[in-house]
Amino acid sequence: MFLTHKISNSERSEFYQSKFEYYKKVGFFTAIFTAMMETTYFVSDCQIFGYFTTETLLPRFIILLPMLLLILFQRKIKSYRVGSICYYLLPHLVMWCTIWAIWYLPNRDFAREGFIIMHFAFLAVGLATPIEYHVLFHAGVILNIVISNLWIHYEHFDLMISLAVPLWFGLTLMLIVLQNSYVDHYLVLKQIEKEAITDQLTGVFNRNKIYDLVTPGNETIRRENAEEVTVLMMDVDKFKEVNDTYGHDEGDRILIMLANAIKECIRKADVVIRWGGEEFVVFLLGADLQAGVRIGEEIRQKVETMDNGVCPVTISVGVSQYDLGDYRATVRRADKALYYAKATGRNRVVTDKEVPEDASV
Ligand code: GH3
Ligand code: MG
Ligand code: MG
Repeated sequence: MFLTHKISNSERSEFYQSKFEYYKKVGFFTAIFTAMMETTYFVSDCQIFGYFTTETLLPRFIILLPMLLLILFQRKIKSYRVGSICYYLLPHLVMWCTIWAIWYLPNRDFAREGFIIMHFAFLAVGLATPIEYHVLFHAGVILNIVISNLWIHYEHFDLMISLAVPLWFGLTLMLIVLQNSYVDHYLVLKQIEKEAITDQLTGVFNRNKIYDLVTPGNETIRRENAEEVTVLMMDVDKFKEVNDTYGHDEGDRILIMLANAIKECIRKADVVIRWGGEEFVVFLLGADLQAGVRIGEEIRQKVETMDNGVCPVTISVGVSQYDLGDYRATVRRADKALYYAKATGRNRVVTDKEVPEDASV
């Protein structure tokens, strides 16, 4: 797969987000360490001056302020776009503080070494960021040198540029190779994530999907702006007999057809989960109880009249409206309605409101 699989444009954002989350500690600590390194150059300033100097004290230590800001707000950084800009901004500020300090230095020859180190900081930050961002922000290193040369007049300006340009180019190529190698990691991760929430037999979701639906901050339900959600819980009637008569393979085939029949009756945003053996739960987003009953009835009829090539099967359906609170309570109510449907003749759709208080289910 290496270097062969291209990430499509629509997937690019998700890919960069994944890459950012994987490498963001590298980007963050590189930015922090680069800022801390800046303060230590105060020692070399004193060596260049030959005495304890106060001139470069402010330029060398002022960087601690943005550094502290980054530390404070690091937890709030979620998107790769904001994160990438922050992690590049700090090394750029480091460069400008260095330029400020160089202004006071009696010998500006050593700026060359300092700026070469910066390239490696940009390489490390670039692991976490989109390659396009790297190309631009890293080119900014050269731009900083060119601009500051207007008044600093570096002794070896031409040498600084001839060292910086190949480094910018070479390190960018290196990051392209590293980004491509992350493609494999990303695809495997996506595959594992998908398999973790997919039922292998029917291809619908398995029970793990429920956490994605209701976990705060990650709710599919909230993402879809669903104010009303109705839960259908369905179970195949007398399925054990089907298995016992026709065998498990035929039973499996019926389960696959059933899952497809459910999908045909619902919208794309709705979520079908294989809850257990022959039980399915559907979260209908944006549907009230009445709509839930209508869709449940549609599925029930479709299954009843479906030619599955084995034998006629029916399902019973329990319906309950989800209050966006504890999903377990809603599923319990739908389950109760389902078993009331079983107890009252099967092949029926029943809401939790229809279940008598004293029903022993
Ligand atoms: P009821 O109408 O009360 O639901 O009767 P039932 O026979 O469907 O209920 P029961 O819970 O007794 O049986 C469920 C059966 O579902 C038992 C098992 O043979 C079958 N089953 C569960 N998982 C699978 C599966 O993955 N494949 C197949 N073929 N059958 C399964
Ligand atoms: Mg059953
Ligand atoms: Mg069952």
